[in-house]
Amino acid sequence: MINVKLPKRLDPVKSAQKLSSYEGIYVAKDMLRLNDMVDSILSDVSVKVEFAKDAQSLTYFQGTLAVQVMLVCQRCNQPYPHDVDIEFCFSPVQGSEQDETLPDAYEPVEVDDHGEVDLFQVLEDEVILALPIVALHAEEDCSVKAQDMSFGKIEPEPERKNPFAVLKELKRD
Ligand SMILES: [Zn+2]
Repeated sequence: MINVKLPKRLDPVKSAQKLSSYEGIYVAKDMLRLNDMVDSILSDVSVKVEFAKDAQSLTYFQGTLAVQVMLVCQRCNQPYPHDVDIEFCFSPVQGSEQDETLPDAYEPVEVDDHGEVDLFQVLEDEVILALPIVALHAEEDCSVKAQDMSFGKIEPEPERKNPFAVLKELKRD
């Protein structure tokens, strides 16, 4: 069982010089924004990350992240577990001007005035971005089947009011 707590902030350039690598966890309940977006978080956030410099002596850090969350299915309203597994590869930049020169393999991540990266925040963002836009069960697991989703025969509406006409009526009141 890995339960080493990871540093939340670190200097990626120094870490790369030391060829640091970390394997450990962030406590999931500390990810407040993520907590707001999911039904619950079922595991801690396990992270592996390695810091290094490439052939062009660009600092980068890459790794993987895994966490299990509970989402609410938008079809049947039941919660279901969802695994988030992410691979990431970042390169620290100062301000945004360096973004364009960065090779595509690297995602830019801004360092603060002390040359530090808020790894915790950066990875929390990654988890949030990886969540499905619409949470849905796999169809076979969902209690609402696709055929239940049709609404039967749709009767043609005899008189369709022009929505602008409705607005006019409202204004008259
Ligand atoms: Zn469902």
